Amino acid sequence: MQGFNKYYPPDYDGEKHKSLNAYRGKHALGDRARKLDQGILITRFELPFNIWCGTCNNHIGMGVRYNAEKKKIGNYYSTPIFEFRCKCHLCDGWFKIQTDPKNTRYVVTEGARQKDEEWDPEENGGYAIHDTEGNAAPADPLAALEKTTDAQNHMTKVQQPRLEELEEASERFNADPYALSRKVRKHFRAEKKVEQKKRTADDEIKNRYGLPEELNLASARDDEGTISEAKAAWAKGKRELEQRQSEAAKRRKLGHSQTSISLPASTSLPASSSAKKKGGALDSLRSTILQNTARNSLRRR
Ligand SMILES: [Zn+2]
Repeated sequence: MQGFNKYYPPDYDGEKHKSLNAYRGKHALGDRARKLDQGILITRFELPFNIWCGTCNNHIGMGVRYNAEKKKIGNYYSTPIFEFRCKCHLCDGWFKIQTDPKNTRYVVTEGARQKDEEWDPEENGGYAIHDTEGNAAPADPLAALEKTTDAQNHMTKVQQPRLEELEEASERFNADPYALSRKVRKHFRAEKKVEQKKRTADDEIKNRYGLPEELNLASARDDEGTISEAKAAWAKGKRELEQRQSEAAKRRKLGHSQTSISLPASTSLPASSSAKKKGGALDSLRSTILQNTARNSLRRR
């Protein structure tokens, strides 16, 4: 019996005995290791299928357990093949069952007869899953296609350079994320400043002339085209106004005094004198407003 506790007797010498089991002259596995010198270990073995004992001819059901002598009897590639030698519980006969790694199952080799209950896939129109020998793997059409010269040419001339390019690009963009991020943020900050400056200037003008909040002022500041366009529109509006005034005057002379000209209030700009005093900075903005008002007056007509 192996030692179950950790009691160290007074005459136990660690240097000499090394372990408690060695001190008692026992194996760690106890009685189960009594045939270890023959390569046999006693293990509990459960019948994996129904058998008939070869000696007493009794039926022994699946799941009956025995203290079997387990022994390694060979190898299938690197997988050991174990044999279990059991003594029938109904008689004194012995039978042997061993593992079959090739087919991942157990086989009775001696002293008994196995009840044949195996499912045979080949018999039922299938094929054996574990049959690794003989039959070559079925040809893979995709693998065959990959081996054609066309496919290989495409691979080396198109796909690989493309992959390399993508890798390079990815490396370039991911090499120094901090520096890139800083660059982008700097750019955004500059843009934001310009945007804010423009908005405050626009708001100032809108407040001064009582323009609606949602009115979009064109940025004429740095666009010569817009300025000239606005000036042209203004000149055109002025001309039309003069024409109408002269027509009205003519009509008045002819006695049609009931016709009145309704001028839009915004056309009488109060900005002309004050803005000129402010200098050239507001000139372009004024032209923008003039453009807007000219358009409005045309639309209202
Ligand atoms: Zn028996």
